[in-house]
Amino acid sequence: MSEVETVYRVDSDALVVFASDLVEPLGLPPESARDVAESLVAADLRGHGSHGVTRVPYYRDLIAEGNLDPTGTPTVTAEDESIHVDGGRTFGQLVGRVAVEEGIEGATEFGVSVVGVRNGGHLGRIGEWVERAADAGLVCLAFVNTQGGSFVVAPPGSSERRLSTNPIAFGIPTYGALDFPIVLDMATCQVANGKVRERRKQGHSLPEGWVVDDDGQPVRDPAAFAAGTGALQPLGGQVSGYKGFGLALVAELLAGIVGDTTVIGQGDPETWSNAAAFVFVDPLRFTTKDGLRASVSALARHVEATEGSEAFGPGHAATSDDALLPGQPEWETAQRRRRNGIPIPPEVAASLRDHADEVGVDVPPGLFEE
Ligand code: NAD
Repeated sequence: MSEVETVYRVDSDALVVFASDLVEPLGLPPESARDVAESLVAADLRGHGSHGVTRVPYYRDLIAEGNLDPTGTPTVTAEDESIHVDGGRTFGQLVGRVAVEEGIEGATEFGVSVVGVRNGGHLGRIGEWVERAADAGLVCLAFVNTQGGSFVVAPPGSSERRLSTNPIAFGIPTYGALDFPIVLDMATCQVANGKVRERRKQGHSLPEGWVVDDDGQPVRDPAAFAAGTGALQPLGGQVSGYKGFGLALVAELLAGIVGDTTVIGQGDPETWSNAAAFVFVDPLRFTTKDGLRASVSALARHVEATEGSEAFGPGHAATSDDALLPGQPEWETAQRRRRNGIPIPPEVAASLRDHADEVGVDVPPGLFEE
């Protein structure tokens, strides 16, 4: 995975402590602030800086807008394998933990469990939740919506913002066949909106195909997108965006139905909170550990034997020049960053310094040093 051009390398444990200190004044008790910080740093460790500590000032803004309530508490209503979590619009990192713990408990007892989430705040990197389930030996499927708000994606053949980014994620445990679980975690548009924000902060242009304007022309300036020009294209873009669009609508509906909440077209478009449908499956009710390991190993060997083309790569936002297994780039990046530190771009460090000033927290000496 190529690292973003960077100045600061920060130790992940030190970053958790600092992020926790920054989150706590937003209105969370220390242990909850620590959980939020751990999730943010977990995203940074895995190469998804768009969902990492850069989000702390963003959460402050969501609280100010009324889209996040640090005083909210997740409540659970469970009936056997059907579980419902109302997150109370608190931090999604806290709601996700509750949803996954409940789902694991249900699937361990019944083989399958389904968890609906509503008012989940911002659930952050959705891969975290399916990865936690896979670490507990379970398959997990996740479908997410925004309860009717946050329009940034166009239907195919349009540049009108009518949909949200509707992430989906799938986790499959590998029981030691690989060093990591299979984790496919992605928005159903070309890339997460956070990646566009990241490019704006870094002063980088957008690759062709992410955002288009009314004439179907690429919008390369992320600031123009932030100011309202164009829309993110569904996954597949102008070639086969109807497929990403279809996935988005399925995620929208499943999260709405299982989360028992509004979908786009029903909710207030000015407000949003993540809702989700999580499905947990114990694979050992269907196969054996050895059977699962054999499937994973065969598939991995088959994919690894692919000869890549010199002429084209796997995609602008892909995290390596080769086709890796889903979750592999994140796992490899985390290994490397645990050893060498997390690269924090200077503009992210600056915004965290400003936020620290605002909430009266000292930046630990040497944290952001070249
Ligand atoms: P992305 O385009 O970076 O794709 C990530 C997926 O592609 C991962 O599963 C990764 O393992 C796989 N991948 C990357 N490079 C690969 C390669 N070379 N070979 C094989 N697989 C490869 O992701 P995205 O769509 O930009 O989403 C980024 C993050 O944003 C995700 O964590 C997602 O959950 C999060 N997100 C959250 C929300 C929300 O509302 N909470 C909304 C949208 C996205």
